[in-house]
Amino acid sequence: MTIHFEHTTLGQRVIFGSASASRNLVAELRRMQSHRPLVIASVQERALAEAVCGELSGMAWFDDVRQHVPVANAESARSAAAAHGADVLITVGGGSTTGLAKAVALTSALPIIAIPTTYAGSEATNVWGLTEERTKRTGTDDRVLPTTVIYDATLTLSLPVKLSIASGLNALAHCVDSLWAPKSDPINRALALEGARALNLAMRAITMDPEGLDGREQALYGCYLAAVAFASAGSGLHHKICHVLGGTFDLPHAETHAVILPHVLRLNGPAVPDLDERLTAALSGSRAPGRTAIDALLALNDEVGAPTGLGDYGFATADIPEAVDRILTAAADLSNPVPLTAANITSVLTNALTGAPFSVSSPTGARA
Ligand code: NAD
Repeated sequence: MTIHFEHTTLGQRVIFGSASASRNLVAELRRMQSHRPLVIASVQERALAEAVCGELSGMAWFDDVRQHVPVANAESARSAAAAHGADVLITVGGGSTTGLAKAVALTSALPIIAIPTTYAGSEATNVWGLTEERTKRTGTDDRVLPTTVIYDATLTLSLPVKLSIASGLNALAHCVDSLWAPKSDPINRALALEGARALNLAMRAITMDPEGLDGREQALYGCYLAAVAFASAGSGLHHKICHVLGGTFDLPHAETHAVILPHVLRLNGPAVPDLDERLTAALSGSRAPGRTAIDALLALNDEVGAPTGLGDYGFATADIPEAVDRILTAAADLSNPVPLTAANITSVLTNALTGAPFSVSSPTGARA
């Protein structure tokens, strides 16, 4: 079999080490000759940010962070950066915080040092997102790719287990969607499958021992690989669905990804059996004859108590027709393993509303 692909690797420094963020940040600011950093962290993330940035001189703070980056919010952050004369943006927080800095970098080209405290992975992509009038727009631009990422697993110890799992499944969704996304290739698939292996171990470890650093480090390692794979492979069906649900219906990002993932895998997995087999191995620890990736994902979901129904986050049956229309428009040019129709997207959303096909065990114990 011949191998034929074009692959671009994004250029970024990654510094990984527990309990070292503060020291690594000081060294990085010195390397970048920064004297006027703007630290972006939400009010809830402030204590973590102070622990990392508290000693810096010449810095200013911006804490008005909102999920899905509303355009007006981006404008306030841009004004704050300009008013301070910022030369570097530092983020300490989840994907919303990183996303806000990206919105500033998009128009100012300021470099970003990202210090992530969830497993969303935005720090490793050149993808920006802005929401206006119930519509989330995304795009790619190398100006928004953080120059440096500083990973420190101690900063994720405070992430509650429930949110850690939703966020870990958000990262796993980057891996799974990369398998069939528009620019999927052997390199990003290898990264995605190693990411899935690490995230599977991480989520089980965090559930067993939320205070343990091993699971938290595996989660950051896995989420980074997942995001690099996603940045390279592009948005597949899973992301098209979740962007509509987040931007139009304001559903929480990580939980929405966690709920939608098995439904998209159930639709696409059987159409790509070789990839499904590799994903099964990544999520099972070995080749498992007769087992499919959806079996492995559902076993993981059960063990870690994954969120199961969009209804828990305010999505309703009456929202489905508008969501289906918007998803089909957003995915119009997508080459998905299974042709997309109003019927199969309606079915994904109807099932995701309650988690129905996965919540009732058949007499053999297998899922319907
Ligand atoms: P988030 O950033 O909104 O964080 C969720 C909640 O967790 C917030 O209340 C936050 O304050 C809190 N939190 C964060 N870190 C914490 C910690 N260590 N301890 C306790 N609480 C903590 O959610 P998210 O899922 O990280 O990010 C979602 C956003 O990121 C969405 O807007 C999404 O579109 C974006 N995103 C973008 C990309 C990309 O490539 N551009 C990739 C993934 C996610």
